[in-house]
Amino acid sequence: MFNQQTKNEEMKYWNPYLETLPREELDKIELSYFRNIMAYAKGNSRLYEDKLKGIDPESIKTFDDLKKLPLTEKEEMRKYQEMEPFPYGGLLARGIEEVTTFRQTSGTTGKPIYVPETYESWQWRTEVWCHILYMAGFRPRHRVFLPFGYNVYVAFWEAHFASEKVGCELIPGGALDTRGRIHKILEIRANGMMNTPTYGLHIAEEAKSIGIDPAALGIERMLCAGEPMPPSTRKRLEELYKCHVFDHIGGTEPCAWAGMCEAKDGMHIIEPFILVEILDRETLQREVEEGEIGVAVVTPLGRRSFPLIRFNTKDLVIKGKSSCSCGRTTQKVKEIVGRTDDLRKVRGVLFSPKTVEEVIRKDFLEIEEFEIIVERRGLMDVITLRAEVNPSLTVSAIEQAKARIHESLKIASNLTFNVIMEPPGSLPRYTLKAKRFKDLREA
Ligand SMILES: [Zn+2]
Repeated sequence: MFNQQTKNEEMKYWNPYLETLPREELDKIELSYFRNIMAYAKGNSRLYEDKLKGIDPESIKTFDDLKKLPLTEKEEMRKYQEMEPFPYGGLLARGIEEVTTFRQTSGTTGKPIYVPETYESWQWRTEVWCHILYMAGFRPRHRVFLPFGYNVYVAFWEAHFASEKVGCELIPGGALDTRGRIHKILEIRANGMMNTPTYGLHIAEEAKSIGIDPAALGIERMLCAGEPMPPSTRKRLEELYKCHVFDHIGGTEPCAWAGMCEAKDGMHIIEPFILVEILDRETLQREVEEGEIGVAVVTPLGRRSFPLIRFNTKDLVIKGKSSCSCGRTTQKVKEIVGRTDDLRKVRGVLFSPKTVEEVIRKDFLEIEEFEIIVERRGLMDVITLRAEVNPSLTVSAIEQAKARIHESLKIASNLTFNVIMEPPGSLPRYTLKAKRFKDLREA
């Protein structure tokens, strides 16, 4: 065991063979895995028995052939979930008695999807997550604190099991309040943490309020999950904790599918476990070029309890480079832009809430928390930013910040915001998924 751990400390890659395969090899493996999982899905999942009727998996020889297959949308999954056996219905592709773990989506966009994992499929998910952790520099010397009760939500369970497999020492931090967690981190000298970006900021804010510098918590590495993280939020967390902060992208249905390496320049797709297409958002037909925005369509290639073929994640991402200074050969995603669900037309302008977060976290460190509200007054859309200020700010500093925020948001979004400065502690704090954007026009 000691030898194994020493070796893990020195290894650069979790899977040196797969992570450095030439592009042509990866393509060949992924197309072959795709045909296999497609044939399996057709034979074992009622969703795909219907959806892929009459299509021969062996006819998929190139990535262009893939584009002829339909995408899988969340709405139709909900329909098939209503069938027997309860609660997974026609999405389940193993016997119900083989299911060992229940997970579900958060249900922010409708009725939750229930995700069955067998022991085998859970091992597959854990292995994918080992790549994410290892790329982010987590090693057996790390004592990792997870400041959540994970409930039925998958990302922190994956992080938990993968941490163990990598050899880290894992401390589950549920059933404590934020101060209790801060004291636990100090008490057991945790040096790694996995959290949502929002909760990372909140722990820092709470630590400061009790006279503890967040950097003194001793966290060396932080991996964020659960929300899209603009580069400015990542940098802010790095400055607060004086640590390395990494991002990843994934979802409950498809699994995590890309993670950030030590170069911190985009995220590597976890090939050949996952096949990711980045398609232009108008037609969902053409693979975009490097630097272009597209919708991520994801096929987990090795999970059999709940197969998904070309799942439309609705995540908008910028396609990245196909090479990296870390030596991995897997395709990269440059940045997560947001979700197609979050994009709204406000006064005819396409608006993404992430634009506001980017501005606030980059230039307005005095703002602790914020909320965006869009409503209709008469025939006009009104967009409001409620910004909660740091307690140390003077009245004149608050007025100056207000004017600067107004101006910066106008430049970044092309929209004139109604900016309201709120006193400390007036906006809600979030541990899992932050809900900072409210479109009241839909009510
Ligand atoms: Zn890299």
